[in-house]
Parts: sequence; structure tokens; C-alpha cells
Amino acid sequence: MQTITIAIDGFSSTGKSTVAKQLAEALKYVYVDSGAMYRAVTLYAMQQKFIVAESFDEDGLINALDNVLISFKYNEEKGFAEVYLNGENVEKEIRTLEVSNYVSTVSTVPEVRRKLVEQQQEMGANKGVVMDGRDIGTVVFPDAELKIFMTASAETRALRRYRELLDRGDDIEYEDVLQNVVSRDYIDSTREDSPLVKAEDAIEFDNSNLSIEDQFERILNMSRDIIGQKKSDS
Ligand code: C5P
Repeated sequence: MQTITIAIDGFSSTGKSTVAKQLAEALKYVYVDSGAMYRAVTLYAMQQKFIVAESFDEDGLINALDNVLISFKYNEEKGFAEVYLNGENVEKEIRTLEVSNYVSTVSTVPEVRRKLVEQQQEMGANKGVVMDGRDIGTVVFPDAELKIFMTASAETRALRRYRELLDRGDDIEYEDVLQNVVSRDYIDSTREDSPLVKAEDAIEFDNSNLSIEDQFERILNMSRDIIGQKKSDS
């Protein structure tokens, strides 16, 4: 069976992880949520007080990076791998609005990116991986056989995220979520190191008006076409 690498990039809350998880399950591939890794480093920075209110001690975090161990462990019940920070499951803690408000700043730090990109490349070394993020098709796996660049309007995305957070029981306002989405988009696409840009060979996919099922079916078909093509080439 031929395996490929699938890179899914795009703005915040475009539903990348939803389709990435579905694809990984259908193709029996490994799913890696690279955003969870940046979120875990951010949580670490907050726990160690490298981030306090508006101040960020970047050098403090850089010097402590060797103490940050990020791993994933498959959760049978949930059907995906959860993220662990130094051996502790932090899947819930990394999804708060507070972490979301700092994560894009932490993600601008080249030393943080270098460490995480290296780990991501190791995880995908044998292909058969679906990874979502901001720089997967451009930096982590520039040779990925299938690259998708997801988009949707900021309002659509903020509303999806707002509903998710409400479902979790968080006490939040829609306006704050929208503000976070817009501000992360800006920082992610204007940072110097590996900004969020569409890879030249990525397929742009606007899902503002697509159901989750339609989106999945279309991208699964694209994946199967490429896998079939590889098979007939070999
Ligand atoms: O995907 P998610 O929204 O959870 O990612 C959180 C943040 O992590 C993004 O807004 C971005 O700042 C950063 N990130 C990144 N590169 C990636 C994945 C995420 O810079 N590959």
C-alpha cells in the first residue's frame, strides 16, 4: 500500500483538525496536530511565569526549551492522539482562550519553531501522516504529496470556535473569540520566521459554505487519487 504525506494549512479555526482527523482515520494514517505543540510550549511558558500579563520573557523561555518535552498518546475513546507536556496530559488546558491569546506570540520565536519542526519531521519521516498547522506544506513537509490550504471568513471561523468553547462550558463572549481569531491571523501571516502563506502547489479550499461531510468526501477523494497515482507509477 502506497502512503503519502498530507499537509493541511490555513488560518485559525478553519476546521483543519476536523478534516485531518477524519482523513487519518479513513486512511489509517497518523494525525499530528502541530498547533497543539505550540500551545503546549505556550502553556509551559505561562506555568513557568515567562509570560505574565503583557510581558513575555523570550530569553527565559529559549533557555528553558531543553526542559520542554512534548509527546502524543493515542486516546482510544476519543479516536485521536492527545498532547502531553512533560508527561502530563494537557489536551484541555491548551485550548483555553488565555493560551490562544499568547500562542501566536510564542510561535514567532525561531528557537521554538526549530525545536518543534524537527520533532514534526521525525514524526512524519515514514509518511502515512496527516499534519495540520500553518507551515506544514511550506516548511515542515515541502515535498508532501497533498497540500491543502483551508480558508473561510473570519466571522464563520469565530462562530465555530465560539460554539466549541461554549460546548466545553467556557464562559466567553463571541466578540473576544472574533478578536482572537483576527489577531492570530495577523501575527501568523506577518511573522518573519515561516509565516502562514499558501504553498505554491497547495490546493486552496474555502469551506465557508461546505458541510463537514462534503469537505471530508472531497479531500478524501483527492487523497485517494494521489495514492492511486503513486501506485500506478511504482
Ligand atoms: O492550530 P491552532 O489554532 O491550534 O494553532 C495555534 C497557534 O499555533 C496558531 O495560531 C499559530 O500561531 C501557531 N502555529 C504555528 N505553526 C504551526 C501550527 C500552529 O505557528 N504549524
